[in-house]
Amino acid sequence: MKIANHDGRSLLVIDEHHGIDIAEASDGRFGPAPESVLQSWDEFAAWARALNVEGSHAIPLERARLGSPSPAPRQIIAVGLNYSAHAAESGFDVPDQLPPTFTKFVSSITGPDTDVRLPHNGHTDWEVELVVIIGREGHRIAEADAWDHVAGLAAGQDISERISQLQGPAPQFSLGKSFPGFAPIGPWLVTPDEFENRDDLALGCSIDGETVQEGRTRDLIFPVASLIARLSATITLLPGDVIFTGTPAGVGVGRSPQRFLQPEERLRTWVEGIGELNQHFIASDDQPGSNLS
Ligand code: ZN
Repeated sequence: MKIANHDGRSLLVIDEHHGIDIAEASDGRFGPAPESVLQSWDEFAAWARALNVEGSHAIPLERARLGSPSPAPRQIIAVGLNYSAHAAESGFDVPDQLPPTFTKFVSSITGPDTDVRLPHNGHTDWEVELVVIIGREGHRIAEADAWDHVAGLAAGQDISERISQLQGPAPQFSLGKSFPGFAPIGPWLVTPDEFENRDDLALGCSIDGETVQEGRTRDLIFPVASLIARLSATITLLPGDVIFTGTPAGVGVGRSPQRFLQPEERLRTWVEGIGELNQHFIASDDQPGSNLS
């Protein structure tokens, strides 16, 4: 099943234009807020699977009203260098035990279709990623049990301003990846059972129709289950938490010559079996941000 955040209310998606309001259909047992549905995910999923969809009241689903399927996670965990071709283009060795791990601060999250203001004097880059949304709390989760902790998958963009990302004496990633609108997620959460092979999904993105990234999640160095096991060896994963799983090759900073997003460019991002995101970039307002130069 697919669960959308429609104006802050959880919707069971029937098709691209219709959904069932979860709070209404469950007489207030679940929702309306997406956070509360994620908080009681296992109970909710059992109820939703037993729901008589044909006998339920459907309402219009409007794409412009979609927000992030997990709009306010307590933790966002993002990993880098999780595809070997991307590690190579970035000039780094492939990680063997743990990928580089950072956060995108929660204020950078948006829904799937947005205008994004480019930072002042920035080098703003694209990174298509498969996003995992956690549905069950866990610490030291065994790899064999990891998928049971996943509520669903979504498409994500780890938009990254490379100057502030790489600034300073020690590498720090989180600020350059957390400007407003830098973490679009959506268009909805898709439960893992919906995929023929949840570990092999095509993903990519294009700028004004030109494909710049194309990959498959079977090439992840640490696939979803392995990532959950390795991250939860340290962190307690909580319902609603969001994991950005890393980007395949084809980012702008790894190109020769380098290429970065320009005002009025349109970035389209897709993940097979999930859907797409659409970002339209607008010119900087010339107010210095974390990149103060
Ligand atoms: Zn990334």
